[in-house]
Amino acid sequence: MWAASDFGANDYAARMKPAVVVLALAALLGCTTAAAPQRLASDAIIDAAERAPLDGYATSGRWSEPFAPFNVIGNIYYVGTEGVSSYLIATPRGHFLLDGAIAQAVPQIVANIRALGFDIRDVKYLLNSHAHIDHAGGLAGLQRASDAVMVASAADRATLEAGAIAYGPTAGMAFPPIRVDRVVGDGDALSLGGVTLVAHMTPGHTAGCTSWSMAVAGADGARHAAFFHCSSTVAGQSLAPEAYPGMVAAYRTTFARVRGFEADVFLANHGNFFDLKGKRARQIAGDVNAFVDPGALLRFNGEMEQAFEAELARQGARRE
Ligand SMILES: [Zn+2]
Repeated sequence: MWAASDFGANDYAARMKPAVVVLALAALLGCTTAAAPQRLASDAIIDAAERAPLDGYATSGRWSEPFAPFNVIGNIYYVGTEGVSSYLIATPRGHFLLDGAIAQAVPQIVANIRALGFDIRDVKYLLNSHAHIDHAGGLAGLQRASDAVMVASAADRATLEAGAIAYGPTAGMAFPPIRVDRVVGDGDALSLGGVTLVAHMTPGHTAGCTSWSMAVAGADGARHAAFFHCSSTVAGQSLAPEAYPGMVAAYRTTFARVRGFEADVFLANHGNFFDLKGKRARQIAGDVNAFVDPGALLRFNGEMEQAFEAELARQGARRE
């Protein structure tokens, strides 16, 4: 599934201090005594970010408001905040953790994982939907707590490793940079403990926006297909002129591709995208299939496409 080149062995070794390169290479060759790769953010940077006061975006978006963690369906758990999602996908051989919210939310995410009976140190893979501060800001802290392998798309990697995006309303809003250990492309699969997550490149919102899909067993005994949408909102970004080259075409390709996806458990990185509160309330009231919603993905895609085209027309007209 993973070619040696996927691991980026050369990049990996280049960032190591010479004294530990030998150990790193030994680890790549399968030896058991591996030196932990260097982190990009120091403890001081991570600690300061976790304690920093919330800015206006974080406050209005309720990015740090607590939300009681719960089992969404099968082995998928919600461990995020009220405003931004983080998902634990549990397996008997360790776990996946998708998205890190903001740095200030890291203690909550760790506590949420613990409250569900899991341990952050058992997280083996950290995934990211896209490199905006509200989904990537906490990743460095979560990487520090777990030592998990950070997985991201090639197009968002530079942003994650810089700790700031170069375009859009959040440009210049720094977050602790995260070392990306593995780069995934469209269709790449990541397996752990009998669970496989597949990456889908759905660019637009960011150049490397990555959605993830997996099969999941419901409480009804049926197999379901879960889709974690990266987001395709315009989010105040400039479409005309494009915030990055190829942006408009990227959105349109993504809308067309997503129309071809079939998933009956639609999840996303902001609760309002998939009615987190409403579905959770129905689940608490006894509906074990509250998160099974076969029309939700296409509905969301259609709404996003309409909003995108309207915003593109608006921005185009304004330029004339
Ligand atoms: Zn975003």
